[in-house]
Amino acid sequence: MTSTTGTIESTNKEKMGEDLYRLIERLYPICRSITGNGVRETLDIIKEYLSLEVNEVPTGTQVFDWTVPDEWNIKDAYIKNEKGEKIVDFKKLNLHVLNYSIPVNETMDLETLKAHLFTIPEYPDWIPYRTSYHNKNWGFCISHNQLLRLKDGSYEVKIDSTLQPGSLTYGEHLIKGSSSEEVIISCHVCHPSLCNDNLSGIAVATFLARELEKLHLKYSYRFLFIPGTIGSITWLSLNEDKIKNIRHGIVLTLLGDKTKFHYKKSRRGDAEIDRIILRQLKNKFTDFGIIDFYPYGYDERQFCSPGFNLPVGRLSRKPHGEFPEYHTSADNLDFVKPEHLSESLDLLLSIIRELESSEKYLNLSPKCEPQLGKRGLFKQIGGQSETNDYQMALLWILNLSDGEHSLQDIEEKSRLNVAILRDAAEALCKVNLLKKI
Ligand SMILES: [Zn+2]
Repeated sequence: MTSTTGTIESTNKEKMGEDLYRLIERLYPICRSITGNGVRETLDIIKEYLSLEVNEVPTGTQVFDWTVPDEWNIKDAYIKNEKGEKIVDFKKLNLHVLNYSIPVNETMDLETLKAHLFTIPEYPDWIPYRTSYHNKNWGFCISHNQLLRLKDGSYEVKIDSTLQPGSLTYGEHLIKGSSSEEVIISCHVCHPSLCNDNLSGIAVATFLARELEKLHLKYSYRFLFIPGTIGSITWLSLNEDKIKNIRHGIVLTLLGDKTKFHYKKSRRGDAEIDRIILRQLKNKFTDFGIIDFYPYGYDERQFCSPGFNLPVGRLSRKPHGEFPEYHTSADNLDFVKPEHLSESLDLLLSIIRELESSEKYLNLSPKCEPQLGKRGLFKQIGGQSETNDYQMALLWILNLSDGEHSLQDIEEKSRLNVAILRDAAEALCKVNLLKKI
């Protein structure tokens, strides 16, 4: 038996927000990257909440056109001035190190050092987040104000990192429903101390899985905790046998700030998940954004690459790159709030409630309209310009019951009452023109 998913009770919302936020607080200090111990440590913490399966894919594994890279780990990094004072310290904030920096242990003058320093002149107090996964490089990210204060002289630069064969780590959690048809819920786990970008998605996905585990579900739900880009490419490459079962999917990111929701549609543009999320946003909010698919962003790029073209969209609040805190030290614990996180989770539960309860029929006589009059279903005198709602309901149900559209979709398109549509569907089933699927 399928019990439908409820939204979070209002009394629980506050506690849920606090639980989501607490998980973000625990994960915030960890230095994550696309590989390495930061991802493992993150997945170990998520394992306290979910029975996550952790997979290790060796360096050098070919995944479509890509290769799993060397594993990066870091113990320490700093810049010391001539007095021996640490003026930049990785241990105070991991964003200070260019992610994937090769090891360095040198003394150099300011001009040489400056070629390896990254800042944001527009926001001179913030520290940028920068990466160099595919070009071997090293660097430090500091505030622009600090850069302006640096004096000529010699600087001791140390990055105690390793970049060597190891593996790419990702987490997977499957909740089995009564059907083998799957819904993919994916989030990235590769950013260091950034809250909205990566930690909000991780926290919402973790608690969504916990809520779904309490229910009897129709679909199976596969949660992926993967490094961005290379993680989804790796997963898709190693799991091609599972792809035929994927019916819907959502990439989760940027769900903890106060701005309105934005949904980026799947490449298909009119998949059932696209229609459901649009409907839920319309039901719940007066203001939200809808973005057509474009081939940049998060892991929807891989799920929606033309060879897969999966019905996977992306749910976020303000999109990446459209808020100044994006990829900076200002995307911190003050930037995300418990109430925004719990609202995001609440919206996702409503989306899944509709997915789980969607009713679909199949037209058994889809080539041209069947003759309804001879079955006593179409009583109108031919030639009249108007038909009544019930008769229109018969035509809408027959036309859209193609296996892709639910009763909720037909209700929305036809603007007819769902009770009339259901009556029409029952009548069509009785005369074998339609069957429930
Ligand atoms: Zn990012």
